[in-house]
Amino acid sequence: MEKYEEWEDRKVRHRREYHEEKRGRNATEDLSCNNCYRLHEWYRTEEIKEFWKWYRKLVPAETYNRNTLRGIDNLLIKNKEELSS
Ligand SMILES: [Zn+2]
Repeated sequence: MEKYEEWEDRKVRHRREYHEEKRGRNATEDLSCNNCYRLHEWYRTEEIKEFWKWYRKLVPAETYNRNTLRGIDNLLIKNKEELSS
């Protein structure tokens, strides 16, 4: 299965199992779910928005949330470490 289809499938299953059937821990996890991982408004800075414009061209993602940003943070930290070493 293609990566994008896998991601779509996971999203659909998560919504059904977690939000409709309320299976809790047994439900499929979806780290891109906006109901589970709501992004705080204060984190929507201009810098992040600019970065996201570029990032979404590379990754099939509809929107960003905390998990996406955690990934971006790790990426930025790693770049800084590489630059300073
Ligand atoms: Zn959810």
